Amino acid sequence: MNDYPDTLLLIDNEWREARGGARIDVVNPATGRKIGQVASAKREDLDLALAAAQRGFETWRDTSAHERCAIMRKAAALLRERADSVARLLTQEQGKPLVEARGEVLAGAEIIDWFANEALRVYGRIVPSRNPAAQQLVIKEPVGPVAAFTPWNFPVNQIVRKLGAALATGCSFLVKAPEETPASPAALLNCFVDAGIPKGVLGLVFGSPAEISSYLIPHPVIRKVTFTGSTPVGKELAALAGRHMKRVTMELGGHAPVIVAEDADVELAVKASGGAKFRNAGQVCISPTRFLVHKSVKAAFEQAFVAHAEKLKLGDGLTEGTTLGPLANDRRLAAMDKIVRNASEKGARLATGGSRVGGAGNFFAPTILTDVPLEADIFNEEPFGPIAAIRSFETLDEAIREANRLPFGLAAYGFTRSIKTVHELSRRLEVGMLWVNQPATPSAELPFGGVKDSGYGSEGGPEALEAYLVTKAVSVVGV
Ligand code: NAD
Repeated sequence: MNDYPDTLLLIDNEWREARGGARIDVVNPATGRKIGQVASAKREDLDLALAAAQRGFETWRDTSAHERCAIMRKAAALLRERADSVARLLTQEQGKPLVEARGEVLAGAEIIDWFANEALRVYGRIVPSRNPAAQQLVIKEPVGPVAAFTPWNFPVNQIVRKLGAALATGCSFLVKAPEETPASPAALLNCFVDAGIPKGVLGLVFGSPAEISSYLIPHPVIRKVTFTGSTPVGKELAALAGRHMKRVTMELGGHAPVIVAEDADVELAVKASGGAKFRNAGQVCISPTRFLVHKSVKAAFEQAFVAHAEKLKLGDGLTEGTTLGPLANDRRLAAMDKIVRNASEKGARLATGGSRVGGAGNFFAPTILTDVPLEADIFNEEPFGPIAAIRSFETLDEAIREANRLPFGLAAYGFTRSIKTVHELSRRLEVGMLWVNQPATPSAELPFGGVKDSGYGSEGGPEALEAYLVTKAVSVVGV
């Protein structure tokens, strides 16, 4: 039975067809079959959504922080209640195993709660004045209506981090969510509608990404732009935003190095980074990719890592026991083939996997390439798929230099028992996030974001709220 709904646009708290009725097909990546459709917005729909966002902003910025917090918390509670059904939609449209989809939805509810509570802590300050009769205030205000662009790899959580900070600070929020995975974002936003969010505060559109971003970003209603996706697209959108003096947060690609030092707990390194590598079939911006392993532990690491990969159960995310789902779209499948071919041509050794599995659906075997030359594409371009690449190193300095060689600077991982090595890694790695002796734990209270070509701004911690605030200095003399 197909229990997957068609998705409409959300404008002024109403679910609407696009003007003219245009729609885009949605395909289940596990079967290759069409499961539904999503409305595709035209210019007229965007104008309605923008006007609603302006009105919504005027209402929301004047809504007390306590009330904003209460509505957000109610939406989080509804999301938790609906976790099973939202997760089912997510798995059908995106492919990840149901247990991962449910984890994403529940983590989303937790992130909304965290931002809701932070709404109560957006403080200004009083600054001593040179004139005793004057009082000097620094006030934090919401920047205004936000245009957000989110990708298909975490259809719920890519929205939640942006929406949480925007709503907490009093901004209205218009999101162009992914056309490939529209139903779980719609189910997320519906929790806010049912929680009583005022009209216009939230808007959801789909359509042609380039047409929508080129219209929304320069539009005078929009005061802030936030994007998650690839570095080339991020650079284009940041340039456009720059031309129109819009505030920007960019969460872009990564190419995370994993440094396994000679004194590492190899079993732990395999367990932690093996889990992280194949989560969401590697379609994660902080996915570990370049495994730099000390030559003294490389053989042991490689053997255990291959055993870990070969135990994964590839299949439809709705099937009980699946631990690795299909790739989200056939573009990724073609990209994986190309990466493996290129690495083999350059002299890498295929330790496991390396090819598509089955005829239907976007299944690709968990793949480990070893002794990979630096010139291979996998060591230079983000694979965004279930492929790991291993190289050995002799000195820590050599590993850190390699980690910093690429223009990306999102996440890194280290495994070592030495405090001196930990200190070196945390001081010298050019990244926004470093996890040592553990898998990634991107919790709401910690900053989340990158440096260099991985973008700027943060989507966690108090820094995430700052990105949606403007500062006003007010000096008052009583008369
Ligand atoms: P892509 O570069 O075409 O698109 C990436 C995302 O950006 C998609 O969500 C897409 O809808 C959006 N997009 C593309 N052009 C846009 C535009 N002009 N205006 C607004 N949005 C636009 O690539 P893809 O095939 O969808 O994904 C592959 C690559 O994207 C991956 O290799 C990875 O680097 C990157 N990606 C990164 C993340 C992340 O979490 N940082 C998530 C998804 C994809």
